[in-house]
Amino acid sequence: MPKYMPEPFRIKVVEPINLISREAREAAIRRAGYNVFALRATDVFVDYLTDSGTGAMSHHQWAAMMEGDESYAGARSYFRLKDAIQDVFGFDEFLPTHQGRAAENILAAVLVKPGMKVPSNMHFDTTDANIRARGGNPVNLVIDEAFDPSCIHPFKGNLDLKKLESFISETGVENIPFGMITITNNAGGGQPVSMENIRMVAEMYHRHGLPFFIDAARFAENAYFIKLREQGYGHKSVREIVKEMFGYSDGFTMSAKKDAIINIGGLLACRDKEVFQKLSNELILREGFVSYGGLAGRDLEVMSVGLYEGMDEVYLSYRLAQTDYLAQSIKQLGMSVIEPTGGHAVYVDAGKLLPHIPAAEFPGQALAVAMYQEGGIRACEIGSVMFAHPDPETGVMVHPRLELVRLAIPRRVYTQSHLDFTVEVLADIAKKSASLKGFRFSYAPPLLRHFTCRFEPIA
Ligand SMILES: *Cc1c(COP(=O)(O)O)cnc(C)c1O
Repeated sequence: MPKYMPEPFRIKVVEPINLISREAREAAIRRAGYNVFALRATDVFVDYLTDSGTGAMSHHQWAAMMEGDESYAGARSYFRLKDAIQDVFGFDEFLPTHQGRAAENILAAVLVKPGMKVPSNMHFDTTDANIRARGGNPVNLVIDEAFDPSCIHPFKGNLDLKKLESFISETGVENIPFGMITITNNAGGGQPVSMENIRMVAEMYHRHGLPFFIDAARFAENAYFIKLREQGYGHKSVREIVKEMFGYSDGFTMSAKKDAIINIGGLLACRDKEVFQKLSNELILREGFVSYGGLAGRDLEVMSVGLYEGMDEVYLSYRLAQTDYLAQSIKQLGMSVIEPTGGHAVYVDAGKLLPHIPAAEFPGQALAVAMYQEGGIRACEIGSVMFAHPDPETGVMVHPRLELVRLAIPRRVYTQSHLDFTVEVLADIAKKSASLKGFRFSYAPPLLRHFTCRFEPIA
């Protein structure tokens, strides 16, 4: 077995979880139409559905809850967060939002006009959808290595500079409201972006007069990967690395439900005073006044604490080691995972494990259902259920390159024994993988169908 780095915390509050009986699990997943999103959380034993908003708060954060100032305007908690954001990211102005997608909505509402294109390494699905909702086109320009699951590259989230250069000259700067980069690249396996890439992408955007926004959900994990893997950064602190990364940017959107280790919240920052004014007005319309943006004072207070805890290097080394431990243990079963291991999740190659199930019968869904039936484990299909779509011209189904199941690890929540249990369950599934069957839709809505679709097993 790979070595496990002990959790650098002890447990102070517990929340019981239940492994309900095999029969109850069979009934629950049948009732859910074989869609894990329709399960009741109380019927789930170990939940890897997402690392978003599912982290455990520290005793400092729980104490900070009581410090929350719930004043409508100019609350103490707002100014405390303002100081933290200045200190951590070097931004004078920011807006709180209720989630990352609210920040994206406001940014897109103010800057994206119909027909415009927004480049990034890869847009996360909510960013993609918010740009499209304003008539814009999100464009993904990640390096080709990102699409090869076994290719070892230290920064598989990097944006391809050659692709960006030709994209800008073909599109024309007048059709590009701003450029982006996502750290770490969630849609591409949680892979990091190097400092060199961030710097060069920023230079290219700026050379063309384009503002550069970072989608910063996992800024701290990305910074720690830079410290571990990039030459010249081994001796720098994560705090210094974060400052440098954001120093190249003109703004950022952020889901604080990830690296700021809070259950709800987001951020939007922008250096341009005129644009900031417009963003503020849009925020007041959609979210709330500029000093709370749809959050309670206690949420702002807890975010101020979480931003620093997310950058703690002992915590980060444990966090990345925990994810890698799960990936290496699954690999030892003979299963394929996306490599190298990203920050927040392990992606199991279900297509490879279940070669007898064609993409049209959803091998990832078959594995996700089996994990629940075998061990009450909830993980999310990231394959044809989520991404297959008919070609608009030919009507022929286009399937994604990989049929994956994602095990996203909540922060500071599960211990080594939960991970070991997960590996045991996967070992049992591996033994009987040839008997697993595919699925077909019994209901599927037109957009973001994975959340609400229903399936039936193919006999
Ligand atoms: C989670 C996430 C978002 C959206 O944030 P929400 O808080 O879920 O609205 C945007 N970008 C990335 C990279 C994310 O991981």
